[in-house]
Amino acid sequence: MSHEVFERTPARVYWELTRACDLACRHCRADEMPERAADELTTEECERVLRELARAGPPPPHVVFTGGDPLKRPDLVELVRYGVGLGSASPSRRAPRPRSPATWRRPSRARA
Ligand code: SF4
Repeated sequence: MSHEVFERTPARVYWELTRACDLACRHCRADEMPERAADELTTEECERVLRELARAGPPPPHVVFTGGDPLKRPDLVELVRYGVGLGSASPSRRAPRPRSPATWRRPSRARA
């Protein structure tokens, strides 16, 4: 087995598509925010990144969309389809759901 492929191509890319998230977990390292940032990549920019990642193969890296909550992006399904078409993306992150808002929310970031 050759290791050359792994030297030039990452096996997995965890891509934080957005910092937007309806939760505010104490342990969050993503500096979450309730709404999407104005300077997030556009759909076309994301597709360009996916094409560039796919060119890193073969095999292309497995792209995992995460965040924040990637479902805050209305183009998530479109991006997954595009990435799957390139052989590299899959939806691998469940949308966060509050289990107990009282314990999961940071007091300083609690939202109404
Ligand atoms: S669910 Fe949202 S707030 Fe909680 S850790 Fe994930 S991104 Fe951060």
